[in-house]
Amino acid sequence: MKLNFTVGDLTIHRIIEQETTFLPALEMLPGLTPEVLAENRSWMQKAGALDDKDVLILCFQSYVVKTPHHTILIDSCIGNDKPRPQRPKWNMKTDDTYLRALAGAGFTPGDIDYVMCTHLHVDHVGWNTRLENGRWVPTFPKARYVFGKTEYDYWTEQNAKAPVPPFADSVLPVVEARQAEIVRDDHAIGDHARILPTPGHTPGHVAFTFGRGKDDAVFSGDLMHSPLQTRYPELSAKFDVDQPQAAATRRGFMERYCDTDTLCCTAHFPSPSAGRIRRAGNGFSCEAI
Ligand SMILES: [Zn+2]
Repeated sequence: MKLNFTVGDLTIHRIIEQETTFLPALEMLPGLTPEVLAENRSWMQKAGALDDKDVLILCFQSYVVKTPHHTILIDSCIGNDKPRPQRPKWNMKTDDTYLRALAGAGFTPGDIDYVMCTHLHVDHVGWNTRLENGRWVPTFPKARYVFGKTEYDYWTEQNAKAPVPPFADSVLPVVEARQAEIVRDDHAIGDHARILPTPGHTPGHVAFTFGRGKDDAVFSGDLMHSPLQTRYPELSAKFDVDQPQAAATRRGFMERYCDTDTLCCTAHFPSPSAGRIRRAGNGFSCEAI
């Protein structure tokens, strides 16, 4: 399995926590019809993105990007010891898959200089913290954690209305430990990492672009979940907070990178998860390299 890529002066490592069945395609993508699913079943199955019961297969992973100056972890997956009763595969997990994968890529938690979250959903913040003597502490002891202000403000407001467990156990402890940087969209890290606003999935969802002077790689977070959405950008996921906005963001993102050399590193596409955006009919495809 391909776990790392080199583009420009960047090395990119995939840190996989789970690659598994998630939800039926027709449930996850409310605009999908049985006819369109049937037309696309064969290539989706070959891509490892759909099982034989029409359930979508998703990868849950972080990326670690090594620039000439920094080691940056993007999205911190699911995490351990966290009560997630709605998701049995995530609930009170205790396996060492994630930290072993990090070690396998050659990193200890202490090597990470920055953690950047595309948004603050449960499967993107989990390893921000770990349980130590009954308290949530930052998993990456030396890291600055970068959260977008729009996203952070949105979840602060939601959490005030009704408790949002991943915000309370995986974001607020980082803020309390004074390791968080709440940043605006013009924030950059050195001359290699920038923010690209991509709202829709959540109000403050962002992508991250990497590369000096040009986008050698882009980390698209949850602006799409399945390769079927590259082919049909109008198909929003049921978790997209603003589905029409998510669809417009998705098409705009793919137009921006279509037929360029930028490596698009998705959060959830099945392995190898990363590729280059190419035009395909009225939509696009993400071609593995
Ligand atoms: Zn996600």
